[in-house]
Amino acid sequence: MEIVIVGAGFGGMSAGALLAREGHDVTIVEKNEQPGGQGSYFEQEGFYFDMGPSWYLMIELYDNFFQEFDKKAEDFFHLEKLDPSYRIFLDKKHVFDISAQKETNYQLFDGFEENGGEKLKKYLESSKELYEFSLKEMLYQDYHSILDLVDGKLLFMGYKLHLWENLQHFIDRQFESEEARKILEYAIGFLGGSPKNAPSFYHRVSHSDLNLGVWYPQGGMRKVTQGIYDLALSQGVNFSFQEEVELLEVHEDKVKRVITSKGVYEPDLVVVNADYAHSELDLLKPPYQSYDENYWKSRTISPSALVAYIGINSRVENLAHHNLFLNKDWDSGFEAVFNPDKKAWSEDSSYYVNVPSLTDDSAAPAGGETIYILAPGLEDSPDLREKFLNQILDDLEEKIDFNIRDKVVLKEIFALDDFKKRYNTYKGTAFGLSHTMDQTALWRPAHKSKKVDNLYYTGQYNHPGIGVPMTLVSSQILAQEIK
Ligand SMILES: Cc1cc2nc3c(=O)[nH]c(=O)nc-3n(C[C@H](O)[C@H](O)[C@H](O)COP(=O)(O)OP(=O)(O)OC[C@H]3O[C@@H](n4cnc5c(N)ncnc54)[C@H](O)[C@@H]3O)c2cc1C
Repeated sequence: MEIVIVGAGFGGMSAGALLAREGHDVTIVEKNEQPGGQGSYFEQEGFYFDMGPSWYLMIELYDNFFQEFDKKAEDFFHLEKLDPSYRIFLDKKHVFDISAQKETNYQLFDGFEENGGEKLKKYLESSKELYEFSLKEMLYQDYHSILDLVDGKLLFMGYKLHLWENLQHFIDRQFESEEARKILEYAIGFLGGSPKNAPSFYHRVSHSDLNLGVWYPQGGMRKVTQGIYDLALSQGVNFSFQEEVELLEVHEDKVKRVITSKGVYEPDLVVVNADYAHSELDLLKPPYQSYDENYWKSRTISPSALVAYIGINSRVENLAHHNLFLNKDWDSGFEAVFNPDKKAWSEDSSYYVNVPSLTDDSAAPAGGETIYILAPGLEDSPDLREKFLNQILDDLEEKIDFNIRDKVVLKEIFALDDFKKRYNTYKGTAFGLSHTMDQTALWRPAHKSKKVDNLYYTGQYNHPGIGVPMTLVSSQILAQEIK
């Protein structure tokens, strides 16, 4: 078949590689100037910035994808295990390293509360069991009806591990200390969720950072983007950049023409990797939308983000490669992000700081540092961006006892309006559809259109969800379904 894929994010590139391997003639049409979607990068004055993903987690999902082509991740980039995995700042006096050694983390938790190490061990055993169960029984499966969920093994696992309660409740039942609770609850942030409205099912995420460890592809996440792009090229995929799809024209329940800013395609089949809501609402006429405006309005969409890319002309002090600053007012921090009536910048927001140049000399000019700051971003204007970033920098400089602003040689901010403009994301969301109970598995938008016969979807909106490795799995499911 002749297949057109809309968007060259991780979902689009991986789907392209898998479908071209099957002998199809695949063209990927991408509105931006480079592959990778949210995994884009830019270089300025010798500073390299990965614009979106920076955590390489769930390593075997990457390996499973590369194995489809008899390859492994190491054929494309070199992985290094980080130790410490990451640093947690609760306040100036409470700073902890999460180690790559499990025993060290048990000792850390012993310092938080009585039997903390033993409780963590038990928690991680359950997380591992669930992770392995999901990998084997759930992640690579598509869900078409409720019957797909009526599975004896899943029901037994749900009963055994209390999977139907919310994550916060599940953790609070097992741990008393603020430190332990925050460290374990934060993991849902990797999926753009909140511990209050995510099911405890997602405690499996802790297995990936606390058991399997945090890895760094030398050269940055852009090497992962480049690796999957090279793989797609090697399978014969054609790419067309700076070409935006404007309409999917449907006749007799099939997409007959893909109208773009540069011309027209007449493929046999179309796969959409672009933001699902954008594609349904902006690229299809209403009779052909499987999910209409009311559906999207009723969904929990994860917030936008403020990402600051900062280059400084000095080595930084007191930071690790990955750093999480977890705010004091934990509950209202999440509420400000996920309660639709309270959409405003938080005064005391949690945020994340990444300094890849601490591990990778190629990330910054000699003697300098590449710093990436990520926080939830709910409103946007030039003044608000500066105001919010300054609020974060006030807090950061105070906590690490190091002045960043005096040493800045380069600063760019990417926020809500940029997410809309660069990636066409719905309402400027950074992570798409959040992982709540009713937006999991069967309840994520389908891989196959319900209205248009030759139209399919892949990416972070589909099952299994958000994160680079999950989008690779989404494409593996899609390729099976098309086959
Ligand atoms: C700030 C940030 C940090 C993150 N951190 C991590 C992390 O550390 N680890 C991790 O694993 N994940 C992380 N994620 C999540 C991860 O990046 C995403 O889940 C994943 O990249 C989504 O890939 P995708 O292919 O579904 O979508 P996208 O990357 O959004 O790709 C969709 C593509 O479609 C293109 N497009 C849109 N509309 C059109 C159109 N009309 N015509 C043509 N092309 C179009 C877009 O330009 C884009 O290239 C992060 C995300 C963000 C935003």
